[in-house]
Amino acid sequence: MTLHQLLNEGVVLLGRAGDPEASQDARRLLLEAFGLDTVHFLMRRMEVLEDTEAVKRASEDYRRMIGKRCRRIPIQHILGTQDFMGLTFQVNRHVLIPRQDTETLVELILEEQKDRTKRVLDLCTGSGCIAVSLAALGGYEDVTAADLSEEALKTAGANAARILGEGRIRLRQGDLFEALEPGDAYDILASNPPYIPTEVIKGLEPEVRDHEPLLALDGAGDGLEFYRRIASQARLWLRPKAAVYLEIGHDQAGAVCALLREAGFGGVRVIKDLPGKDRVVRGELSD
Ligand code: GLN
Repeated sequence: MTLHQLLNEGVVLLGRAGDPEASQDARRLLLEAFGLDTVHFLMRRMEVLEDTEAVKRASEDYRRMIGKRCRRIPIQHILGTQDFMGLTFQVNRHVLIPRQDTETLVELILEEQKDRTKRVLDLCTGSGCIAVSLAALGGYEDVTAADLSEEALKTAGANAARILGEGRIRLRQGDLFEALEPGDAYDILASNPPYIPTEVIKGLEPEVRDHEPLLALDGAGDGLEFYRRIASQARLWLRPKAAVYLEIGHDQAGAVCALLREAGFGGVRVIKDLPGKDRVVRGELSD
């Protein structure tokens, strides 16, 4: 048996199970099981594997992980991590897996907001990927991450501690602004709230529909519920000249821009993600 044969075996099984990324996933799981990097895999893939306990264990691990992936468990849940903005985040079934789309939001804030003393609030933080990467890469001194889910906050806290060190960001539990305390006021509000219309969720890929938290996806009837609540309440928690950055679904730009304008925000603008879809809406207060 060679690594090449093991890989092919996995690709076939994943392909049959409908995994759209069968080759890529099988290779990633093989590297994980055998503790190899790509270069060593490529060098050794045609060698006949030794008959040792370690090889036997690695092969079993690999086949077990392939079995999970055949059940359409997200590869990030099997590996336990997802990279975001060059940082590695722990993930589990309590948090949305960080998406590349959301890097557009973080990059925009880093580009527009150079003052490290600005106070940052991330609502619906989930894994903490937005709050933690803003603290790590933007150096903002005062960052608060809030979520309704206790389990999500635990995950965000663990990610913050590992990436930034203990106590570097503030964690608050509660439903949107209810997580905050009287007197709190921020300069930058970021959020990737749940925005999928309830009816659309059942048509999503099984990885998302069956394994990611509904709480992080479901934006109610038209998917806009959280933007309505955020837009109408934000001003009470923002300092003069504060800016708001919201991740949106590709067809929600018009509606979310209108909500921000109605709530008195100016400089409202839509930013596209790398594939060219509307992905972020930003706006700011004049005073
Ligand atoms: N972008 C995610 C998806 O497509 C949804 C994220 C969200 O609802 N905030 O599954």
